[in-house]
Amino acid sequence: LHSKVQILKGLLHEEHGMIEMELDEVVSGEYSVPRSGHYYKVLFDREILAASPSLADEDFDLDSGKVISYDTQLQQKVLISRGPANERLMVVRHDFMIFDKPAVIYAAQSLEDHMLIISKLRNTLIVAITLNIFVLGFAALWITRRSLRPLDEFSHRIEKITHKTMNERIDPEFQVDEVRNVAKSFNSMLDRLQSAFEMEERLVADASHEIKTPLSVIKAQCDVLLQKDRTKEEYARAVRKIGATSVRMKKIISDMLSLTRLDSGALSPAGFKVVSLKDCIDRAVKFMEYMSEEKDMKIKTTIKDNISVSGDQDALTELFLNITENAVKYSAAGSQVEISHSIDNAEVTVEIRDYGKGIKDQDLERIFDRFYRADTSRSSDGTGLGLSIAKAITEAHGGKIRVESEWGKGSSFFITLPLNTTDL
Ligand code: ADP
Repeated sequence: LHSKVQILKGLLHEEHGMIEMELDEVVSGEYSVPRSGHYYKVLFDREILAASPSLADEDFDLDSGKVISYDTQLQQKVLISRGPANERLMVVRHDFMIFDKPAVIYAAQSLEDHMLIISKLRNTLIVAITLNIFVLGFAALWITRRSLRPLDEFSHRIEKITHKTMNERIDPEFQVDEVRNVAKSFNSMLDRLQSAFEMEERLVADASHEIKTPLSVIKAQCDVLLQKDRTKEEYARAVRKIGATSVRMKKIISDMLSLTRLDSGALSPAGFKVVSLKDCIDRAVKFMEYMSEEKDMKIKTTIKDNISVSGDQDALTELFLNITENAVKYSAAGSQVEISHSIDNAEVTVEIRDYGKGIKDQDLERIFDRFYRADTSRSSDGTGLGLSIAKAITEAHGGKIRVESEWGKGSSFFITLPLNTTDL
């Protein structure tokens, strides 16, 4: 349209002192067909100098629309108006002076074809975008389903695992890395659960066995007593035996309860206090006084006053008592037990040494197991739980327990505990 304006401007010329326009070139084609959508109009000194026949009504107001741009340099405005056929028009209006008089040239063109193209394009875009959304949606759904399928399979397999099929494992050969890792973690959790289950089962089986033995003794004593009349002494002996066996049963049950409580986390650092190591060991030795005196044994302690650990005083006393009791129990009368300590970095190690019967190499690694007793004849009155309890208490305090022993010469138990940090 700008070039049309320039062409029309170029057609203006003066003749005999009048302004004229050579219209032959432009009054052809689209401009000559009424309401064709291609229009022009030229005003000179506010009078119509020329207008395209396509306008039909040559005074038609091409100026009625909205100005969308204005070029001050070229003196040209661009408007969107309505044409004679009520079609949308783009109009370029050029204002200029010629022979000191104002002149205006309009060149206009219908936008309907463009609007049609735009609306077609818009419809095509709407259809294309909607289709795309559907295709993408279905693709996303398909991909999600496909990638979640291994998880489905995974959960399906997990659901099949019960306490009876706990030895089954999930095949970690999944294609998706994440699921493979979850499968591996799940398998290792199953390993831990299975070993805890097995330990629990073993404990129940061992405990039943241990309790059955004293109960059989009590039952046998009763049967013997009831067979025929007994002397007063026989009755007294049998009742004493039943009494002693009941005490042993009570000890087994209370040791088992202690272990269960320890297993369920009864000792936690939250409940710990600053405890003097010497106090705990002195209390344990005091409990052992009667037994050691009976065997004419001496318990020599060289623990300094100022060593403290963070822990539970009763539990730590029970720990040292269990080890000291064993030292006395498994030593010959008249021998000695020594309790000493050493400090290394932030840890204290208590050594409880005896010169008793010692432990055979094959038993060494099993003596901390529940109900394990090296003496298979079960002649001693132990429960086989003392060292398990000692180990559980030590570990609950963040410590370690180990043993060195020589068969026939004696044993040393080493209990290493972290020192109370406020003392460091
Ligand atoms: P028990 O109640 O039988 O003493 P423990 O758990 O305390 O149970 O000890 C387990 C086993 O370890 C004992 O039966 C014993 O054979 C062996 N044992 C523990 N301490 C000593 C020791 N100081 N000397 C020799 N043997 C020991």
